[in-house]
Amino acid sequence: SAEEDLQVTVNSFNNFFAEKIDKIRVMFIQRWFSSTGRHSNGMKSRIVILGCGWGGFRLARVLDKKKFDVTVISPRNHFVFTPLLPSTAVGTIEFRCVQEPIRTVKGIDYYQAASKTIDFGKKEILCHSVYDNSSEFSVRYDKLVIAVGTKSNTFGVPGVETDEENITHNPSGTNKHNLFFLKQIEHARSIRNRIIECFERASSPFCDEEEKKRLLTFLIVGGGPTSIEFASELYDFLKNDVAKWYPDLASKHQTIVVEAGDHLLGSFSDTLSKYVEKKFVSRNILTLTGESVQEVKEHSVILKSGNALPYGVCVWSTGNKELDFVKSLDLKLDRGRIVVDSCLRVDGKDSVYAIGDCARIQNLPLAMLAQVANQQGKFLGKCLNKDENLPFRYINMGSMAQLGTYDAVADLNYGKLSGLSAFIAWRTAYWTYSVSISNKLLIPMYWFKSYWFGRDISRF
Ligand code: FAD
Repeated sequence: SAEEDLQVTVNSFNNFFAEKIDKIRVMFIQRWFSSTGRHSNGMKSRIVILGCGWGGFRLARVLDKKKFDVTVISPRNHFVFTPLLPSTAVGTIEFRCVQEPIRTVKGIDYYQAASKTIDFGKKEILCHSVYDNSSEFSVRYDKLVIAVGTKSNTFGVPGVETDEENITHNPSGTNKHNLFFLKQIEHARSIRNRIIECFERASSPFCDEEEKKRLLTFLIVGGGPTSIEFASELYDFLKNDVAKWYPDLASKHQTIVVEAGDHLLGSFSDTLSKYVEKKFVSRNILTLTGESVQEVKEHSVILKSGNALPYGVCVWSTGNKELDFVKSLDLKLDRGRIVVDSCLRVDGKDSVYAIGDCARIQNLPLAMLAQVANQQGKFLGKCLNKDENLPFRYINMGSMAQLGTYDAVADLNYGKLSGLSAFIAWRTAYWTYSVSISNKLLIPMYWFKSYWFGRDISRF
């Protein structure tokens, strides 16, 4: 009958609308859960961050802990403020001034472990404890951020090996043959100890002149900002502290910088690079440009020219290389860095991001810099908090390198500075950027202490 037909039509309309309303309701609930970062069962979703360097540490701070369970996995339980690391290698400031424990970031879980492999299908990371390589465990993630940085590049030179990935809770920081890298706190500590050891050995009545000369030859391989800053810090130490505490040796030391390119500080403008080269000449720092180290032996390095250069301490700072861990992952790499899109998402992997030195944005290759990693960590944190995917925009703040007390060079957007003004800019910038109030207090205290009372020359 017509009445029955009408009833059927009304029912089918009702069903149609009920279905639509249900779909819209589910969609709204899903949207709401995703905007709060929670699963539909009300559980917070878990973001795992690998590494607590410039990128990982900043991200861990910015992420909204009310929305996400944040877990950080890193073999080192602290962040290192790398721009001031060369200053610690001669005792201008103490190691505590440049580190910040990751556990001071409120509301996170932390495991002192190294990630070994990642099962992207199961969304699981296999890690091993730094206290026992055989203690392995898995951590599940909903979103993963890889921020593991890089290791020192050895260029396969015989006698130069980095054990930076052989991570233990008690790394020595010493390479064989008294060669040191300068990337971690333990490296700076070993360099400092070795420099003092060389002066104490050279002070011994049993040390002949030739051995003295060797022990007091400080060789720096690489002419980039880290090498220049270390050479300058070393110069201050030799000029002020060695002259005071080892007066007999004050005229017997020699600092040599070996750089394969034509100039020091090749990434800076010509004017600033020349300024540094002139400064080094006036400081009696020998610069060997167009020269490279072919082999490192126990007491000498062999140069490309065939000359053997005896040394007491050799600091190797020739750039970075990808970690074996990164190489082992099933990911697309470009020059050893994980390829990410403009939103920092890893190519072809669901809910996986990479930031900092280990990542390379397609069509926007950025230098391996703290300011890049820091900006990416902050940016990604904000995007994840808002559940947005936006393209990352880098704000270049310029480059600076300090040349010891009262001197520096700064290649800034609004101009180039050198001398005292650059030095004030350098100190102000890095003091401002230091990550905790305690370090903001400690850093100027040690600057003042070293200036007035000298650096500590105890060997520990
Ligand atoms: P990193 O800061 O290197 O952090 C990597 C993190 O990953 C570490 O916590 C590490 O323990 C962890 N990790 C390693 N392996 C694993 C693993 N398997 N699983 C989990 N975690 C792992 N840049 C500037 O812009 N200005 C400067 O003045 C400046 N000075 C520098 C001075 C020195 C001496 C050095 C070494 C670097 C300097 N840089 C500077 C460069 C800057 O430090 C790097 O670009 C920056 O540290 C990169 O940050 P990141 O987070 O990518 O990696």
